[in-house]
Amino acid sequence: MSYDPNNIFARILRGEIPCNKVYEDEYALAFHDIAPQAPVHVLVIPKGEYISFDDFSQTAPAEAMAGFYRAAQKVTQMLELQPGGYRILANTGADAHQEVPHYHLHIFAGCDLGWMIKRGLV
Ligand code: 5GP
Repeated sequence: MSYDPNNIFARILRGEIPCNKVYEDEYALAFHDIAPQAPVHVLVIPKGEYISFDDFSQTAPAEAMAGFYRAAQKVTQMLELQPGGYRILANTGADAHQEVPHYHLHIFAGCDLGWMIKRGLV
């Protein structure tokens, strides 16, 4: 599977579609999810063309990876998500229902987020 340059996050990165921006630097863009699943639901995306966690982890230069994860941590600081805490999630592929084929982290916070994953899957 090759990277689709017209996926929705690529279009947000190019400024073709607006977003409610939280943070941006040379490595990452963070913005509020359009359909929040928690009081705080922010997406963090790398600026390069990476489809998924696998793609990013295997192919991104070390500097891009460090910059991206530092940006995500900066978002949690800016939004003052401690001491309450937060959850970071990266859907990958069909079973995880990854909808947008541009690697992204979800950051959830602002309430008791419940159990890690839906119970009863096994
Ligand atoms: P995934 O299922 O790929 O992990 O999550 C994709 C997320 O992107 C979903 O939570 C969805 O609500 C969000 N999303 C989809 N389209 C847009 C959009 O145009 N703007 C924003 N801000 N979020 C979007």
